[in-house]
Amino acid sequence: GIVVIGSLNMDMVVRTGRAPGPGETLFGQSFSLSPGGKGANQAAAAARLGGEVTMIGRVGQDGFGNEMREIMRQEQVNIEHISVSKGEATGVASIVLEEDGENRIIVVPGANIELTAADIEALGDVIRQAEIVVLQLEMDMAMSERAAAIAYAHGIPVILNPAPAQALSDELLSHVTYLTPNETEAGVLSGVAVDSVDTAGEAARLLLAKGVQNVIVTLGSKGALIVNEAGTEHVPGFPVQAVDTVAAGDSFNGALALQVTRGAALAEAVSFANAVGALAVGKPGAIPSLPRLAEVEKFLQA
Ligand code: ADP
Repeated sequence: GIVVIGSLNMDMVVRTGRAPGPGETLFGQSFSLSPGGKGANQAAAAARLGGEVTMIGRVGQDGFGNEMREIMRQEQVNIEHISVSKGEATGVASIVLEEDGENRIIVVPGANIELTAADIEALGDVIRQAEIVVLQLEMDMAMSERAAAIAYAHGIPVILNPAPAQALSDELLSHVTYLTPNETEAGVLSGVAVDSVDTAGEAARLLLAKGVQNVIVTLGSKGALIVNEAGTEHVPGFPVQAVDTVAAGDSFNGALALQVTRGAALAEAVSFANAVGALAVGKPGAIPSLPRLAEVEKFLQA
């Protein structure tokens, strides 16, 4: 099956006309809680498409932690290896959405960050039995590095979605089978200003030279660019009316993981992931916006 090692966060979303200034108090328009975290979103994305998914992560011993585990269980994700912290609270993202579409986000990782390299070492068997391991960067870097190294040592493919963008060691990059930055992340990782398909290719080739086997740069409505030893291939996206781009990248990564385990050729897998991403941006929310397999098949036939 698919093993997703990553974050579980409760998103606390406040909608307001405008964000308050320093020392200012305002009345907002609405408040909502919604399950999130890149790890949780990617695990749910793959499970909704029919994947057999195990999630490794950590929540707090609190209401949000119980809720996150229950939500993942409802999404048919194996939650046996979502551990519970004694001291740290469940990760949260405090999100202020302004009327003009601007957002301000503070993530407090809490229990997520408490999952250590030693914890992953102890779960080595789970990784060794995986068909693919999926990582993002909302967790402890040493933990992610260890997870990738264990998978690599056992010939298990690794997807690393390098989000949020941060510098990566050459050793980690050399353990990655599929690196999936968006344009911003490709820019940060390569030092190239990425603003087109051509510059995305340039950035990806620099990352390939660091030992990544396949770089897949996601390009929003333009789809994605695959760069590997065989060359460069642009896989176009599917035109949709974008309602809310939350979880576009997460749905793409979950779908890619599923397709790789099903043995799809890479360009085919990426095209399927583009369809899943397009369907996710056509609906509001993170996990609620993720499509199921039947919906994707219908969309691809239309
Ligand atoms: P992120 O959400 O991480 O910033 P992207 O914006 O590149 O990543 O989106 C990820 C994927 O979701 C894209 O590769 C594409 O398949 C799909 N997608 C995103 N935005 C759109 C859009 N406006 N129309 C169609 N597909 C989209």
